[in-house]
Amino acid sequence: MTASIINGKEIAAKKRMEIAEEVNRIKNLGVTPGLAVILVGDNPASQTYVKNKEKACQELGMNSVLIKMPEEISEESLLSKIAELNNDPSIHGILVQLPLPKHIEEKKVIESISPFKDVDGFHPINIGRMMTGQDAFLPCTPYGIMVLLEETDISIAGKHVVVVGRSNIVGKPVGQLFLNKDATVTYCHSKTKDLKIHTNQADILIAAVGIPNFIKAEHVKDGAVVIDVGINRNEAGKLCGDVDFAEVSEKAGYITPVPKGVGPMTITMLMYNTLKSAAQSLNRN
Ligand code: NDP
Repeated sequence: MTASIINGKEIAAKKRMEIAEEVNRIKNLGVTPGLAVILVGDNPASQTYVKNKEKACQELGMNSVLIKMPEEISEESLLSKIAELNNDPSIHGILVQLPLPKHIEEKKVIESISPFKDVDGFHPINIGRMMTGQDAFLPCTPYGIMVLLEETDISIAGKHVVVVGRSNIVGKPVGQLFLNKDATVTYCHSKTKDLKIHTNQADILIAAVGIPNFIKAEHVKDGAVVIDVGINRNEAGKLCGDVDFAEVSEKAGYITPVPKGVGPMTITMLMYNTLKSAAQSLNRN
């Protein structure tokens, strides 16, 4: 079997068109969605991510504000900037680009962002709301994965979903979102014994490990849906996922490529969350 490719780039483009239309609609009601991105230090990967977020905002007609702070900024100054943005009515989403320098406590920073403006979906209030099935800002990569499946008409209820990886930003929340949609969910991680036994039972397999080409054909059941979250460089310096695409695509039913799979969905859902926050602010006024 050769897998059907789930084209994240195309699905993201379709979603972005829908978002742009909605941005226009609420602009006519007097609100322009605004995203503030705080970048501390000059990590090159973070700079690229931040630039892409700004570009996406511009393309969709949203405002974006980039706040650059030096590496040695104090935690107190960062928190006071966030407090200012929390109170700024023109800002609907606040994102602090991670990782932060070691002298700043990440948890404290995340918790200082108003849950109403937490468009990354990392605040414990949003996580708790997601876990209890209430309306919440959903973390962007897991949310993007759910949209990919929805747009591909892949049903979830009753399916066995195996998630390899349990980070707070990808693995844990994506499993929760599948559970909310009535899947049976298994989490695997670095201490899991006999990984293959678990992954081979997956109707839907999510790889969020961070190891190039880690998931091989032997890990995958015939016809399974395989979602590759990984963004890695292989030995030749080429971008690759956590799934060995060449061999797994011969066995899976559906597969996401890297690039053009999950990646484009992450920023798209960030834009969606910012729009949602702006629309909610209209209802609060
Ligand atoms: P983390 O490093 O935070 O988590 C990796 C997870 O993989 C951990 O839970 C770890 O287990 C598990 N793991 C490591 N080794 C093994 C192993 N041998 N067997 C089974 N599980 C293992 O990574 P992230 O979740 O942040 O990211 C994962 C990948 O996704 C990365 O490549 C990252 O670049 C990419 N990514 C892509 C995004 C996108 O937009 N497409 C967004 C975010 C991330 P343990 O908990 O036991 O250590």
